[in-house]
Amino acid sequence: MENLFIADEKDVREGCTMDIYFERTKKILEASGLAETRVCAEITGSSLPRGWKWGVFCGLEEVIRLMEGLPVSISAVPEGTVFRTRTADSVRIPLMNIFGAYTDFGIMETAILGMLCQPSGIATAAARTKLAAKEKTVLAFGNRRMHPAIAGVLDRSSFIGGCDAVSSKIGGDIIGQEPVGTVPHTLMLLMGSNDAAFKAFDRVIEKEVPRIMLIDTFSDERAAALEACRSVKDLKGVRLDTPGSRRGNFKELINEIRWELDMNGHNDVDIIVSGGLDESSIAEIVNTSVSGFGVGTSISNAPTLDLSMDIVEKDGQPISKRGKFGGRKFTYRCPHCFEMGASLRRDDLIKCKCGCEMAMIETEVLRNGVRIGKERTPIEIREFVLEQLKNFIE
Ligand SMILES: [Zn+2]
Repeated sequence: MENLFIADEKDVREGCTMDIYFERTKKILEASGLAETRVCAEITGSSLPRGWKWGVFCGLEEVIRLMEGLPVSISAVPEGTVFRTRTADSVRIPLMNIFGAYTDFGIMETAILGMLCQPSGIATAAARTKLAAKEKTVLAFGNRRMHPAIAGVLDRSSFIGGCDAVSSKIGGDIIGQEPVGTVPHTLMLLMGSNDAAFKAFDRVIEKEVPRIMLIDTFSDERAAALEACRSVKDLKGVRLDTPGSRRGNFKELINEIRWELDMNGHNDVDIIVSGGLDESSIAEIVNTSVSGFGVGTSISNAPTLDLSMDIVEKDGQPISKRGKFGGRKFTYRCPHCFEMGASLRRDDLIKCKCGCEMAMIETEVLRNGVRIGKERTPIEIREFVLEQLKNFIE
């Protein structure tokens, strides 16, 4: 069999995925006797896509895994930090600072940025979706729209941003939870009827798997919902993936199904909806009796964040290219309104415009290639994200 068009872990670690100009830069620096030049490089963003005012920092643990063993040190804001890209005075906020000889980590720049930019975009979209869904469940279903090689990254990032569950096996392994799924329309089509498919699912699939039946394949959703209740004893829920051409008033359809289920004594059967949902369409139906949302492309295809890596210090002296702010900076954030601050000192006293004192939020995560502290699990990071979003007003 021929190879697939993907980089494996060895390729990434050996620099095969880097932009070639980093290798050339390394060669030139080495040939010029500058290989040992010590630098501080910071990773910052300028603005966020879609007019977003804040982002969720995601991907740090993978960067640490990538950089472990290299003679470099890294300080960063915690993974899951809700951040704004600039201070009130437009200074770019370092999300990460890397210290070492440039030739020791420069060839990793492409990989480091990719591990942060895309996951942070996905985590931000997931967090916005979770906020739109209020206290209701959000399931990440978007893997099929992206390349399978990154399914684990997509699921981890979606989960960290606030999705309650993921759909792929590799994603489930990474986050430490069982993946979730219902059934595809294919099953109903091949079994010939709702009833046959519902009963076969119930007969064949392990009892621990929640019974959630898809009710929009052949008939009216209201009738199929009751059919599912009759066919499956421990029915957990029904899912509507109703195509746009049949949605009419989706809100009323959901409420009508709820009414019908309740009237027939099925108050505990959840209604899950899916199909082309995003934060704005969820906001439109969140106040119905829907219990949860399956969200695909709008999260997995979230815009990547435009983070960049820049040298801000050389041999201990501030330096920077035009348009960037020089000097190794410590990152501060107001615990109340999440305004950001940056200072050349780690023990500065920065007052936020809201009156609160900002806290320095950067910590050392890697020292000369050795991880500092324990790796945080996706479950811990997700809880940290949701805690921050609880009282946060944009
Ligand atoms: Zn404040």
